[in-house]
Amino acid sequence: MVDHLISGHRAYQKGYAQREKDFLRRLAGEQQNPSAVFIGCSDSRVIPELLTATSPGDLFVVRNIANVVTLGSELVTSVGAALEYAVGSLKVPHIIVCGHYGCGGVQAALTGYDNLEEGSALRKWLGGVDDAVNEVRQSGEKDADKLWRRAVEANVLHQMERVQSYAAVRDVEVELHSWIFDMFNGQLSIYDEGLDAFVPEAPTSTSTLR
Ligand SMILES: [Zn+2]
Repeated sequence: MVDHLISGHRAYQKGYAQREKDFLRRLAGEQQNPSAVFIGCSDSRVIPELLTATSPGDLFVVRNIANVVTLGSELVTSVGAALEYAVGSLKVPHIIVCGHYGCGGVQAALTGYDNLEEGSALRKWLGGVDDAVNEVRQSGEKDADKLWRRAVEANVLHQMERVQSYAAVRDVEVELHSWIFDMFNGQLSIYDEGLDAFVPEAPTSTSTLR
């Protein structure tokens, strides 16, 4: 049943929508002007607007399993269409690719798709993670959790490279940001090119949400 969603919507209408009605009406009457494209995982525990404390109008969100970016040379895909529209038409100045530790899609690729039917849509989709997984497999890391974390990190960087395979992105001034959300403690880490590492943003106690 989805009763909790309907009652949640009623609460939204009475609360947020009522309180912010002027803002929402103004927003609806203008062309949207988001500050960033956010490409993230569909995982129900990774909520872009929640982890960035943003309002309607702030983020142009694309979510799919394992935050995969299809290549610019591939046939029509929702990721490509969204990038072209956001960057080309809306002139959104930032693109974020945000992965997350504990990503089941990345893990499925790491474990060789044990439970996935060959030829299924999911198996084909996760092929977009293979480059990252193959790269970390060569690192010789034996610890399964560390390997998983490394694969999540490599996947974000690979997907960001794929973002740049779009002419619409290459042709404009746009800033690129590679992020990882740790859903175990609510911590965001941001890729630092100079350090070649994901660096925790405003570190907090790891016990916060555990
Ligand atoms: Zn995921």
